[in-house]
Amino acid sequence: MAGVLRIRRDLVDEIVAHARRDHPDEACGVIAGPDGSDRPERFIPMLNAARSPTFYEFDSGDLLKLYREMDANDEVPVVIYHSHTATEAYPSRTDVSYASEPFAHYVLVSTRDPEEHEFRSYRIVEGVVTEEPVEVVESYMFAHTGSDDTPDA
Ligand SMILES: [Zn+2]
Repeated sequence: MAGVLRIRRDLVDEIVAHARRDHPDEACGVIAGPDGSDRPERFIPMLNAARSPTFYEFDSGDLLKLYREMDANDEVPVVIYHSHTATEAYPSRTDVSYASEPFAHYVLVSTRDPEEHEFRSYRIVEGVVTEEPVEVVESYMFAHTGSDDTPDA
C-alpha cells in the first residue's frame, strides 16, 4: 500500500532532537494520533530499554502503559520512530521482524552525520518494506497538496 507520511515540522524537530540527545545509542518513540485519522499529533519519546547503539527495544511495561493510554484516548500509534546512529535510515532485518503495526508509519532517523540527519518513512507489512514520501507541513489545517493554497476559514 503506497502512501505518504504527512507530519508537522515541530514533530519532526522533536524526533530529530530526541535522536541527537540519545546518540550514540538508538532513540525510539511513538507519535500517537486519533484512530482513523492517519494524523500524528502526540509526541511520546520512549526509553530504549536496550540502551544500545545498534538495537532498540521498548520497555514492555512502558509499552503496555502507552497502549492502555492510547486505547482510553481513541488513539493509535500513527508513527513509530527510532534512530540509527552509525548506518543509513533504513529498517534493519531485526526492525522488519519486530514490526507489528501494518498501519503505522515506521520513521527512521540517521544521526551518523553530526551535521545532517536523514529522516525517512516506511510501511512494513508482513516483512515487506515500502518507503513512502514524507511531507512536512507547518499545520495540518493548511496542508494542501494541490495548487489551491487558499486555506479554509
Ligand atoms: Zn533499526
